[in-house]
Order: sequence, then structure tokens, then C-alpha cells
Amino acid sequence: MINVSKLKKGIVLDHITAGHGFKVFQQLGLDKLSDVVVLMRNVDSGRMGKKDLIKIETDLPLDFDVLGLLDPGITVSYVENGVCVRKQRLSLPERVTGILQCKNPRCISQSENVEPIHFTLVDAKTKEYACEYCDARTHL
Ligand SMILES: [Zn+2]
Repeated sequence: MINVSKLKKGIVLDHITAGHGFKVFQQLGLDKLSDVVVLMRNVDSGRMGKKDLIKIETDLPLDFDVLGLLDPGITVSYVENGVCVRKQRLSLPERVTGILQCKNPRCISQSENVEPIHFTLVDAKTKEYACEYCDARTHL
């Protein structure tokens, strides 16, 4: 096991599905941060077999909607003075804006310049969202 210096203050994204770590890293724009970021891949996990893990030395607010969409199983831990002070489980957001695109070719959002579309969660198990204009369902 590689020894990564213990985080003093920041955010740990734990229980990322193995192989998804880099995608999460990119989606959150962590490559643009000047803070210390550690991406660990294929870490042994009792619960998951293998998992990815990201440690970020920052107080930056994260976009949890994006995180929840990418990988709702992620656990977010907030660390202060080397101790985890708060843990947060992600879930799929009820409503997302500007992340998904409607796949219905007849939807008005395809032909006109509409504001970023709102999608509402209709089924958390299948990760289906409904378009606000045509109700067409889009999978994540
Ligand atoms: Zn639509």
C-alpha cells in the first residue's frame, strides 16, 4: 500500500467505483486546481473489492449534483486538523439543470435555443430522468 501523507484539511471522496476515479477527477475540474489532489486507483476495499479514492486539500465547494450523477455511491468526508468531521452520502439529485440533454429528436429543446433544460428524477433505480419539455426519459 502506498503511503499518502495524511490529509490535514480537505475533502476525501471515498468508495468511488473502481475505474471511475479519473472521470470524477475530470468532471470536477480537479486538474485545474492548484491545490494538492491525490487520485488513488484500485485501492483494496472490504465492501467493494476495489475502489478509487480522491483526496483534495481544499475548502472548495464541490458540485454534488455532478458527483451524484457520476457515481451515487461515493462517500464524501470533510477533514479538519487530520480528523474527519463530517461524512456525507451522495444520492441522485431530484432535479438537474444543464447536465443532461434530451434524446427525443422531436423535443423543442433540440430545435430551439432554450435555456438549460431541467430534468426531474423519475426512477432512482434505473437512473431515469424526465425532460421538462417533452417528458421523454433519459438514462444517465
Ligand atoms: Zn425533451
